[in-house]
Amino acid sequence: MYLARFTPVPDTCPFCGVRKTLAHVYLECARLQALFQLLTNLLLHFWLHFSPHLFIYALPTRGLTKLRDLLVNLLLALAKMAIYKTRERRLANAVSCDCGAIFGSSVRSCIWAEFLWVASTDSLDAFEEKWALSEVLCSVPPSGSLCLTL
Ligand SMILES: [Zn+2]
Repeated sequence: MYLARFTPVPDTCPFCGVRKTLAHVYLECARLQALFQLLTNLLLHFWLHFSPHLFIYALPTRGLTKLRDLLVNLLLALAKMAIYKTRERRLANAVSCDCGAIFGSSVRSCIWAEFLWVASTDSLDAFEEKWALSEVLCSVPPSGSLCLTL
């Protein structure tokens, strides 16, 4: 499937010049390797293996791993958004953006925004259940401050 059928964009990838398909844009472009390595490392902490199938279809969310699965699916969605945003920036002004850096920044922004919200409502337990699983992304020590690990 070619993106040019849906939007008026060049036929080639703005990063590497390869003929552009959805698979190339979201899975195959060499610029994505650093992001996929970051996702691989993150998912291993959750006892999951990163794969193109997981990246495309995400996890079913049910059972004992529901909270983990929801968090992983959110991370995968933010990674796809980082790919989309960096591609749009490149097309708009030819600036090259680090996909992994945009992804990390998006994740940290989500964590900070939600932490500030729950801190004001005094419901840190729900925050910890959602974001601090296994302290992969962050932790909340007894002092009540936020420690980002990503
Ligand atoms: Zn490319």
